[in-house]
Amino acid sequence: MKIYAMPAAGRIEAVLFDMDSTLYTHDEYAAFQIESPIRRFAEIRRVPFETARSEIEAYRAEWARSHGGAALSLGNALEYFGISLTEIVKWREELYDPADFLGKDERLRGVLEELKKSCALAVVTNNPVLAARKTLAALGVAHCFSVIVGLDTCMVSKPHEAPFLKAASACGATPHTCLAVGDRYDIDIAVPLKLGMGGIVVDGVEDVYRLLATRL
Ligand SMILES: [Mg+2]
Repeated sequence: MKIYAMPAAGRIEAVLFDMDSTLYTHDEYAAFQIESPIRRFAEIRRVPFETARSEIEAYRAEWARSHGGAALSLGNALEYFGISLTEIVKWREELYDPADFLGKDERLRGVLEELKKSCALAVVTNNPVLAARKTLAALGVAHCFSVIVGLDTCMVSKPHEAPFLKAASACGATPHTCLAVGDRYDIDIAVPLKLGMGGIVVDGVEDVYRLLATRL
């Protein structure tokens, strides 16, 4: 876990959690979420899967090189190759079934129930809202979140600032009182820090279990 900053206001009114690889850690499901849209892209382009994957990864690597090493989301990369965001949302809704991979996490539930006594909890994800609802239900923590901002809420991917600002306002909080928690600095944390939010990068759900011990 790396704590970059606490909210500029010095208090926390809302915690904005990334979802995938933050509220759960599951390498197989993470890989599936990357591979399955690329597989569908390959089918549409009528090219072998490995060809499609190489093209997309080459574009993401080139983009990172020309943007100071920053990461590009898979969704944004697919957009470059002509797949609309609406289509990407549909694919993800069709392809992902979180319950195939994830189960109830009592430890996570305990931490989130404690946190939500003192602040609002939101999920801000590049997955569609429907996929987020299914994921939170599979983990047994859906009742802990008052706000879900997905790819189809603002129709832009993180790290665009819109999803973060939308989540803050939906929680009734100003950005200066929000704390962002996620596993990817470039995607989940860099922009919130610029907006005056706090930011914590976690290595996975094990670090989320330890959030309470950091005396937020
Ligand atoms: Mg993540």
